[in-house]
Amino acid sequence: MPRTPVGPLELLAVDHLLGDEERAIQATVRKVVDERVRPNIAQWFEEATIPRELAREFGALGLLGMHFDGYGCAGTNAVSYGLACMELEAGDSGVRSLVSVQGSLAMYSIYRWGSEEQKQEWLPRMAAGELVGCFGLTEPDFGSNPGGMRTRARRDGDEWVLDGTKMWITNGSIADVAIVWARTEDGFGGFIVPTDTPGFSAPKITSKLSLRASVTSELVLESVRLPAGARLPEVHSLRGPLSCLDEARFGIVFGSLGAARDCLETAIAYSREREVFDRPIAGFQLTQKKLADMALELQKGFLLALHLGRLKDAGRLEARQVSLGKLNNVREAIAIARECRTILGANGVTLEYPVLRHANNLESVLTYEGTSEVHTLVIGQALTGVGAFS
Ligand code: FAD
Repeated sequence: MPRTPVGPLELLAVDHLLGDEERAIQATVRKVVDERVRPNIAQWFEEATIPRELAREFGALGLLGMHFDGYGCAGTNAVSYGLACMELEAGDSGVRSLVSVQGSLAMYSIYRWGSEEQKQEWLPRMAAGELVGCFGLTEPDFGSNPGGMRTRARRDGDEWVLDGTKMWITNGSIADVAIVWARTEDGFGGFIVPTDTPGFSAPKITSKLSLRASVTSELVLESVRLPAGARLPEVHSLRGPLSCLDEARFGIVFGSLGAARDCLETAIAYSREREVFDRPIAGFQLTQKKLADMALELQKGFLLALHLGRLKDAGRLEARQVSLGKLNNVREAIAIARECRTILGANGVTLEYPVLRHANNLESVLTYEGTSEVHTLVIGQALTGVGAFS
């Protein structure tokens, strides 16, 4: 090959838009992913497992709840958190999900809506990865419409009693603590549920074809009794869980691009090596068109993510803007992953290369934290002032 090719995110030199500390954090996470995730991820994916000790390792690096202040959290800016998600997801969406659910969903629920006592009790050990958390909102019959949830919390003297079933809960079976959202007399409430509480169980969901390097579970709550202080005191509506989902979606806006970048880098390298009709397929115009189109979308997605990150750091990010970012970047990431798969031909369907693993993972990313259809409706409502949800 005549010239060293330029990386798909280097064409626009977007790196120059980052500060020194942001670049340093990104480089650190990339190195950890190269050393700890890449050599093992195919096996984890095949065996449908993820080592629990990763939580402690990520905790030691300050990746859990990394953009929160105090309580053992690293207190970085939001862009740095986004860049960390991007590098983690370049390894695997399941690995990024472990960090997102721990930080943006379970820890953020307590950080944003908990009492000072609850924060002191739970957050430092969760930030260190000593305790793993999960976030139970979705139910078997209520995913896109959590307002219909059937899980109930009723007051019985000094205690709360929870009954219900949650579905598709990341980290459920490995969690020490579950944040469970339930219907209450005064609306909706969030509850901190230690997973060894009698009546709580979390059977693992098996046979997933996506996000295999991530534990997904059902949560079953049968007369789970909790002390009065288990309720998050600062929220009585769906604003609680929805604010947490916004946090996690922000990570996905960046994260999904990591998966796409990994696919594109793989496809470019492969196209330079693979010879068909006596020449590298990188030399065919059809291949170059695919690569050029994908590099364009990847860079546009990064500029969008960075813009949203800067808005977040300025305290000006709105939920509908996060919807825009999630809709665009996950949609483009999955399209890139699938197109890269075509460049790899038959080799693309194996676990030897990351592309179909990423594409399969992105099917879940497209669906969780609000499906692409739901985010489309959020944008439609913002544009027209008319809700089309029901
Ligand atoms: P449904 O709500 O049944 O939707 C089915 C289809 O109908 C979708 O295409 C949807 O977009 C479409 N649809 C729904 N309403 C409308 C409408 N008004 N107009 C047009 N189309 C519509 N949940 C948690 O609480 N915690 C977790 O940790 C978690 N982790 C997950 C991990 C994985 C691997 C997966 C796959 C899911 C996870 N989820 C989790 C659940 C996820 O958030 C839900 O799957 C998601 O909200 C969609 O709900 P659903 O699957 O019930 O689909």
